[in-house]
Amino acid sequence: MQFLTPFLPGEKVPTSGDYWVVHLKHRLPYKAFLPEGERFPVCNQCSLDVVYEYAGDLHKGLDLSHDLDFQPRRASALGL
Ligand SMILES: [Zn+2]
Repeated sequence: MQFLTPFLPGEKVPTSGDYWVVHLKHRLPYKAFLPEGERFPVCNQCSLDVVYEYAGDLHKGLDLSHDLDFQPRRASALGL
């Protein structure tokens, strides 16, 4: 499956897989695994200045629940 446009925080993860996490300001891109149906999380540091791009289904990405930039998950704070 291919997705051409990046996903934004608060959008639903369309399919389980690895996604490039691209913080626009403070970190280099890295891959994270996200399960289908979850919301792409808001970054604690750059807030909405983070985008996600589908990177494959190898399921080798980081677990964002262990990533300090995403603790606690704040998608619900957006009212989404
Ligand atoms: Zn960030």
